[in-house]
Amino acid sequence: MRVAFLGPPGAGKGTQARDLAREWGVLHLATGDMLREAVTAGTPLGRDAKRYMEQGALVPDEIIIGAMAERLGARDAAKGFILDGFPRTIAQAEALARLLKDLGQTLDAVVYFDVSEPELLRRLTGRRVCRACGHPYHLTSSPPKRAGVCDTCGGELYQREDDREDTVRNRLEVYRRQTAPLLDYYRQRNLLATVPGEGAIAAIRDAVRAAAGAER
Ligand code: AMP
Repeated sequence: MRVAFLGPPGAGKGTQARDLAREWGVLHLATGDMLREAVTAGTPLGRDAKRYMEQGALVPDEIIIGAMAERLGARDAAKGFILDGFPRTIAQAEALARLLKDLGQTLDAVVYFDVSEPELLRRLTGRRVCRACGHPYHLTSSPPKRAGVCDTCGGELYQREDDREDTVRNRLEVYRRQTAPLLDYYRQRNLLATVPGEGAIAAIRDAVRAAAGAER
């Protein structure tokens, strides 16, 4: 199984990718998580990426493409993967196609999560994430049992710097300008499958399974 999840920030790609990667026994490769870990660890990648991320801008293509080339070439990626948050530009999509070709692999599907803009704003500004395990919560629609504490691991919940409203608006604009053109790119290549990204998490998961061809 080799699929990419495409959609604006807050569309629910990470939630679904986490569950389905476990179910399918493949890697969940979330570039945003990789970059946040690099920033926290203070690696060269993290130092390069930090200022772009803080503004809600995209990290330059050559940086992210280099990091993904390394990751996709690693042995554990041979069992399959869900790409979450990559590619985000046409240049990244072209680089991904080249990378996979070199590895003798192809993408099975690109799943687009369709969510309205008011809903994205609501989700992102209310999102809280566990610092320790990355589990996502929402202040009103999926709150933790104890405020500020992760149900799964007891870690501290925090609001991502880039989930504040002004940065969220910028991220949505960046998505419209730089990432939305990928919809046509993958549609033309007969890889795009759209799922409605609003509703119950389990119902969306069923739709993603079908869209990714996991039921064939
Ligand atoms: P995310 O967690 O996917 O919303 O990503 C958080 C931030 O990481 C984005 O706002 C970008 O600054 C950066 N980022 C993540 N993935 C990419 C990518 N594929 N290309 C460029 N920047 C990225």
